Amino acid sequence: MGEIVAIANQKGGVGKTTTAINLAYALAHLDQEVLLVDFDPQGNAGSGLGVFLEDGEKSVYHLLTKNASFEEVIRQTSNEMLDVIPTCKHLAGAEVELVNIRGRENMLKEALAPLRKMYKYIIIDCPPSLGLLTLNALMAADSVITPVQCEYYAMAGLAQFMGTIEKINKFLHPNLKMDGGLLTMFDTRMNLSREVRSQVSNYFGEKVYKTPIPRNIRLAEAPSFGQSIFDYEPSCRGANAYIQLAIEFMARRGANMEEFVGENAANAESFNYDFGG
Ligand code: ATP
Ligand code: MG
Repeated sequence: MGEIVAIANQKGGVGKTTTAINLAYALAHLDQEVLLVDFDPQGNAGSGLGVFLEDGEKSVYHLLTKNASFEEVIRQTSNEMLDVIPTCKHLAGAEVELVNIRGRENMLKEALAPLRKMYKYIIIDCPPSLGLLTLNALMAADSVITPVQCEYYAMAGLAQFMGTIEKINKFLHPNLKMDGGLLTMFDTRMNLSREVRSQVSNYFGEKVYKTPIPRNIRLAEAPSFGQSIFDYEPSCRGANAYIQLAIEFMARRGANMEEFVGENAANAESFNYDFGG
């Protein structure tokens, strides 16, 4: 049975979508069957992989509201191990449309249930809010990864987000696991980044990912070409970091990753993965 992982933080612009795309792609690159669900009406996860919907084509909104089967909404990407369910602007209205529906918080969970046996990992890119969409993603998920941008206000809002996870754990979904915090846009030259790393490490303890994602302009450029970093510039630091993250992610789940890691497994900067062709 596949694992469903939500990439969530109610704060905007912290690297959720960049992480969803490139972690999904890196896992696919490591031979895992992966489905990426674009669950943000902004649609950056789908477009970032070059998947666009024509007018009238169905999206995760239609799957969520039981107006489409999963066969109708799953798209292939340039990597045969990675599929994506794109979003559309109607998803923004779902928060209001579903408000009077019983079990409205479990609709994504129900929609994704049959897909668990088809994929090893299902990664959900969440919108920047704590509304019904994010709640649906967290109810569907087995685990959550929370990207934290290395900036001055990094910790603001994090306590609120973690409080929400605790409440969901207590009242709605006791099995939801906080997989970890992930430092994004990390700059080794900046004291601020090191400061944020220590605060986030204190906060998450063991659960903070050892691999920080560096600030890397290539990661910001890739989506405008509809490409993951692995298509756009596979040897850049950003690509290396996301491969390193995927290795750490799988190692946490008990996979033997020795063949992939060198002596400095925890140090993304010194890690160099050979992508071949
Ligand atoms: P939103 O909350 O709006 O959905 P988000 O949390 O999904 O945002 P992203 O869209 O992934 O965040 O990133 C925000 C911006 O920062 C984007 O322009 C992205 O290209 C850029 N960015 C993300 N990660 C990095 C990085 N490691 N280095 C440089 N730029 C980055
Ligand atoms: Mg996003």
